[in-house]
Amino acid sequence: MEKCRASSRIVIIGAGVSGIAAATRLLQNNFHNVQILEAENRIGGRINTVYFGDNVIDLGAQWCHGKQQNCVYDMVKDMGILHETGDYYSPIKRVRSNKEVIPHELATKIHDIAVKSMPSGPHPVVGSFGTHLAQAYWRRIESELPELDRTVASESLNTFAKHESSIIGADNLFEVSVREHIEYHECDGDKLLHWGTKGYRRFLRLLMHVSEDSPEELGLLEGRVQLAKKVTKIELACPRKVILRCEDGDYFEADHVICTVSLGVLQEQHEKLFTPPLPAAKVNAIRGLTLGTVNKLYLEYGKQPLPDGWVGFFCLWLEQDLTELRKTEHSWVEGITGVHMITCQPRMLMAWVNGPHGRHMENLSDEKVLEGLQWLFRKFLTFEIPPPQRFVRSKWFSNPNFRGSWSHRPTKADERKTGPWDLESPVLGEDGHLGLLFAGEASSRNYFSTVHGALEAGYREADRLIGHYTSCSAKA
Ligand SMILES: Cc1cc2nc3c(=O)[nH]c(=O)nc-3n(C[C@H](O)[C@H](O)[C@H](O)COP(=O)(O)OP(=O)(O)OC[C@H]3O[C@@H](n4cnc5c(N)ncnc54)[C@H](O)[C@@H]3O)c2cc1C
Repeated sequence: MEKCRASSRIVIIGAGVSGIAAATRLLQNNFHNVQILEAENRIGGRINTVYFGDNVIDLGAQWCHGKQQNCVYDMVKDMGILHETGDYYSPIKRVRSNKEVIPHELATKIHDIAVKSMPSGPHPVVGSFGTHLAQAYWRRIESELPELDRTVASESLNTFAKHESSIIGADNLFEVSVREHIEYHECDGDKLLHWGTKGYRRFLRLLMHVSEDSPEELGLLEGRVQLAKKVTKIELACPRKVILRCEDGDYFEADHVICTVSLGVLQEQHEKLFTPPLPAAKVNAIRGLTLGTVNKLYLEYGKQPLPDGWVGFFCLWLEQDLTELRKTEHSWVEGITGVHMITCQPRMLMAWVNGPHGRHMENLSDEKVLEGLQWLFRKFLTFEIPPPQRFVRSKWFSNPNFRGSWSHRPTKADERKTGPWDLESPVLGEDGHLGLLFAGEASSRNYFSTVHGALEAGYREADRLIGHYTSCSAKA
C-alpha cells in the first residue's frame, strides 16, 4: 500500500545546497516528514561563509556564475542583492619569475589568443581539453603574434592552462574531456556575480526563508536538520524501506532517501556505505568522474599591501626557476596561479592553489604555508609584502565529508561512456520501490561543479518524488 505525501518518510543525506533545496521543495509540496542528516556540525557544505577581515569571506562557493538559465540568479534577480564584478582578471598583471612585468597590451593580446584557442562546440568531441588548447594556441601565435618570444608564449600558455584547470577543478587540462567543456552550459551574463558583504550564506538563508536580520538559522528547516550525524550505512531493505545507520549508533527508517554527498565521499565510501552494492552503471560513474581540489588562501593586512595600479599578479614561471623550485620545500607554490585583491575586502589578498599542490598544502602547518607565500612574493615582486596580520585557508580534500572541491568530466569518463546522468539515476529496491535517489552538484548534466547545478539537482530529485506521489494518487 503506497503511502501519501504527508506520511511518507524522506531522509536527505547532506545539508549542502542540494540537500537544502530538496528539503525545502518537498516541504512546500505537502511532504511533512522530511529530515536532513548532516555529518558536519554546520549546514552549507561547500558553501561556507565565515567572518574574516572587514566582513566575511567564502571558503567555498563565492560567485553566482552568470544569469541566463541560472536558477540561483533567477531566485534573487529582483532583490538587488547580487552585484556584478565586471572584468576581474584582465587588470591582473602577468609577472615572470625574474620579476619582469609583461606589458599590459601584450599580456592582453596573448590572453585573447589563449581564450580564442579554447575548444568550442559542436566539434571537436574527442580528446583532452589540454591537447586542443595547446594545438590551437600555437597555431594562433604563429599567425597572429609571430614576433612574440616563444619562451614568454610558453610561460603564458602554462599560466593560462593552470588558471583554466583551477576553474574546471582539474589537476591539469590534459585529463579534462573536451566534451565536458562543450557540454557544460555557461550561463550568459557576468560570471562573477557576488553577494557584497554577505557572502554565499545570504543565498542559503533565502532558500530556507530566513530573513536577512533574523537571528533564526534554519527557517523552513527548523527542527528538521540533525548536525554531526554521519551516515555510515544505507540499506535498501524489503519491503519498501531504507535503513540508515549513523556513526554514533543512531538508526533511521525511511521510505525514500536522497543522497547528496560529494563525488569524493562516494568514491571513498560507496563500497562500505551501500547495501546491496550500487548497480554497475552507478559505480562506473563514481569511478569515471573526478572531484578536483581547489583551495583558497586569504591574507589580511593592516592596509592593502599592493601598490597603486596593482590589483594582483599571475605567476609566469621561467623554466629554470621552476626546476629549482621543485627541489625546495616550497614546491607546492607552483600550484598558485596568482594572487589578487578581493571585492568588499580592501585590506586583503587571496590566492588559489589547486591540484596536487593544493592537496599537499593542506598537510603543511600555517607557518610553512606563510613561509611559502612570502618566498613567492619575493621571487616575483620588486616591492616588499609584509607578513599578514591574519591568515585562513580551506582544506577541502583532507575533510572526509568532502574529499575535494568540485567535479569535472575527465577523458576517462568518455572512455567508460559515463557521465553525470549515471550518477543521477535512482536505485530501486528489489520490489521496484523508488528507494534511493541521488542529487549533488556532480549529478547535474550541464551545470556540474556549481551551486546552481547542486540546487537544480536537489530540486530535480524532490520533483521526482513529487511526481511519484502524484502518479500514485492518480492511480489510487
Ligand atoms: C573552494 C570552492 C569554491 C567554489 N566556488 C564556487 C563558486 O564561486 N560558484 C559556484 O557556483 N560554485 C562554487 N563551488 C562549488 C559549489 O560550492 C558546489 O558545487 C556546491 O556547493 C555543492 O553542493 P552540494 O549540496 O552538491 O554538495 P555539498 O555542499 O558537498 O553537500 C553535501 C553535504 O553532505 C555532507 N555529508 C558528506 N558525507 C556525509 C555522510 N556520510 N553523512 C551525512 N552527511 C554527509 C557534507 O558534510 C556536506 O554538507 C566552489 C566550491 C569550492 C570547494
